[in-house]
Amino acid sequence: MILPILKYGAPELRKVSRPVDVFNGELEILVKNMIETMYGTPGIGLAAPQIGVNLQLSTIDLSVGEDPQQLIVICNPRVVSAEGEQRNEEGCLSVPDFSEMVWRPAQMVVAGVNQKGEEVRYTAEGLLARCFSHEIDHLNGVLFVDHLSPLKRNLIRNKIKKLAKAGEW
Ligand SMILES: [Zn+2]
Repeated sequence: MILPILKYGAPELRKVSRPVDVFNGELEILVKNMIETMYGTPGIGLAAPQIGVNLQLSTIDLSVGEDPQQLIVICNPRVVSAEGEQRNEEGCLSVPDFSEMVWRPAQMVVAGVNQKGEEVRYTAEGLLARCFSHEIDHLNGVLFVDHLSPLKRNLIRNKIKKLAKAGEW
């Protein structure tokens, strides 16, 4: 089931999500819906708060469903290490039609568990490191616009306010 994605301004996007501690059929369904929503939108990553569920859960697939090997489901991710820097254009399904250059770690090691509660660990670089960093931010109530200069952030905020006023957000 493709779920509606919350947009900038929704309070759920600003909360610190709680860890997943029950690994059951309900979680499997949530994960399945998140994957379908990510592919249907389409996007390369989705965090549970974006569909209004404040759990530390994210799905990532740089191939957007083309290559099953690339699908990542991670609960309770923690950054084991983050090294270097990369700067590239970045957007977010919750801030549609906006993208800006954002600094992220060049390489990251991220550990957590999958939807079955099994330990997982990823060594990521480039776009995947960017994606992990972006998704982990979501679980802490942080959006990519928070990494921008106050000037750029206000510009985006004002544009969104105008869109919201016109009923287009
Ligand atoms: Zn996002």
